[in-house]
Amino acid sequence: MRDLTVVINGGGMVGAASALAFAKAGAYVKLFESHPPKLEGQTDDWDLRISSVNLANWQWLRSLGVNEVIAHSKVRDYQRLTVTTQSGKSLTFDASEVDQASLGVMVENNALQTALWQCLRDYENVELVTEQRINSLNTHDRTVELTHGERSSFDVLLGCDGANSIIAQLTHTAYRGWDYDQRCLLTNVELEQPVASETWEVFRPQGPYALLPLSNNKACLIDYDKRAGIRSLQHDKAALQTHLTQLFEPHIGPFQLIKAASFPLQRKHALTYCSYGCVALLGDSAHSIHPMAGQGVNLGFADIRCLLDELSNKPVTPALNAYEKQRKFENAKMMRLMDALQISWRSSNPIARLLADVSLSAARAPILKHFLIKQAIGEIE
Ligand SMILES: Cc1cc2nc3c(=O)[nH]c(=O)nc-3n(C[C@H](O)[C@H](O)[C@H](O)COP(=O)(O)OP(=O)(O)OC[C@H]3O[C@@H](n4cnc5c(N)ncnc54)[C@H](O)[C@@H]3O)c2cc1C
Repeated sequence: MRDLTVVINGGGMVGAASALAFAKAGAYVKLFESHPPKLEGQTDDWDLRISSVNLANWQWLRSLGVNEVIAHSKVRDYQRLTVTTQSGKSLTFDASEVDQASLGVMVENNALQTALWQCLRDYENVELVTEQRINSLNTHDRTVELTHGERSSFDVLLGCDGANSIIAQLTHTAYRGWDYDQRCLLTNVELEQPVASETWEVFRPQGPYALLPLSNNKACLIDYDKRAGIRSLQHDKAALQTHLTQLFEPHIGPFQLIKAASFPLQRKHALTYCSYGCVALLGDSAHSIHPMAGQGVNLGFADIRCLLDELSNKPVTPALNAYEKQRKFENAKMMRLMDALQISWRSSNPIARLLADVSLSAARAPILKHFLIKQAIGEIE
């Protein structure tokens, strides 16, 4: 790894974590990011973009040094996860069932990205480029051309530049996918009662609603619904508070709205992750997934760990091919699972509803439940 020059486009959570992991392994890293995080002046207010990061990935991020610098007020671990079907049947996974202290953490995306960038500053073998962009790619001599006309050479080029990846465009990567006719409404609220260290999700025909615990008295409430419905709510604060109160107050008691926003949802999967034997896509540039099970960035971190592993054992081209084979299969599996959940758990068809209840009852069997909790914490895929 020491002789490898890795150019990374995009320094979001996946790109910055890739840069840190490769730098720690001894590679020379050049990271391009058009909107770098502000490293100073973070407030204690949680932003709306929050991720549940599973235990395996959180331990990996800790091994990269993130825990030493991250704002601890923006990390909350959770011990339980409960899902409830339309007919009211519930299943709870508890960390104690697999002898763990938590299933993972809720972390603010900005706080995690900032912490990764702070860690990167400690590495002499990392160059952070925020004033120039990658304009074109020459795969014969393995160089990228930058906005000011300079060239930068690489052994491996990583596209970590999100769902509209320029690296995917430069490599003519094709995707398969669609827009869900849904938006995800995120609201941060302050509760009168303390919030348990538990995340939960309730399924309904129009989409699930869910809670992520943030601190002792703050939580993020999530509602998935048709685009038009969410948009009209977002523009009427009183209607929004009434809607959320009807939905969530029976579960959590009274609360006050702090902020709200909504995001469109899409499914997008690259047909190839690697091109020209030297370019690889990771994270959302390779796959965007429905966020209902909080898997998006977890899959991105798993991509990095797999690529790093392959590159430490094989020359670049075979390593990239092995990476694509493994991660495309695993990511497609997770995407199909999300589609199956979307169809069966949301359906008003009585047979689909019965199947959802039966699958939930089956998941209560100790061996299957143990297996599912191990999956939730990222110990097995
Ligand atoms: C509502 C919602 C809730 C979610 N909840 C969860 C969750 O609970 N758990 C989970 O695991 N995932 C969750 N996700 C998914 C998760 O947010 C994404 O998978 C994750 O942010 C992807 O990270 P990334 O670094 O691959 O891409 P991005 O976050 O899109 O980062 C891409 C980076 O590249 C930079 N960039 C783009 N183009 C260029 C360019 N030309 N030059 C230089 N830089 C460039 C951008 O500025 C950005 O910093 C959720 C997603 C949504 C929409």
